[in-house]
Amino acid sequence: MNTSSDDMISSATVQPHHGASGLLKKGQRLRIVDLQGQQVTDFVAVAQGDPLEYQDMIYSNLENARYQWQIGDVILSSRCNTMWTITDDTRPNHYTGGGACCREALVHAFGAGEYGCRETIQREYEKHGFDPNLYQQASILNINMTVTYAPTGEWTFEEPISTAGDYLELRAEMDLVWMASVCNWPEIVNGAKPTPVRFDTLDA
Ligand SMILES: [Zn+2]
Repeated sequence: MNTSSDDMISSATVQPHHGASGLLKKGQRLRIVDLQGQQVTDFVAVAQGDPLEYQDMIYSNLENARYQWQIGDVILSSRCNTMWTITDDTRPNHYTGGGACCREALVHAFGAGEYGCRETIQREYEKHGFDPNLYQQASILNINMTVTYAPTGEWTFEEPISTAGDYLELRAEMDLVWMASVCNWPEIVNGAKPTPVRFDTLDA
């Protein structure tokens, strides 16, 4: 979808290991732009005024009948209401199984770690006055994260296939709060190194 600059409400570039969030009214769109390529963004949304209604990867996968979502597919909430429609996607390759990195996962994997996407998103919860313990692993969409499955059941992380300028665009189907973390996990989840992501809010 082509969007003229007239539609732009706000735009923010966010460095790796940092978070971002914002409010959207029904009909407004959010475009998540991978500025340099191969960068994962962990992404969640909750209903305005009710953080117990969160976007739900499990119900969304059931609704879409596929785990690699396409333009026109939807993201359902934990109450099976439609939260988002995918209105554009220049590189449809995202992980929809839920989950985010966190301090304990870093310590488990590498023996040390300060904080991950989970804690970054929980700080965004707090900025909006939400209890950070309401964070849900099943709510996390891993934008641009590549996971491959073998027929024999094994799975592996691979480098993201997104290139500079690729973006995912979502239209809010209810008034919502979105929150995100630009992932800082080491190779190869974010390619050779983590890089910044831009969040554009577009009018209805
Ligand atoms: Zn992460």
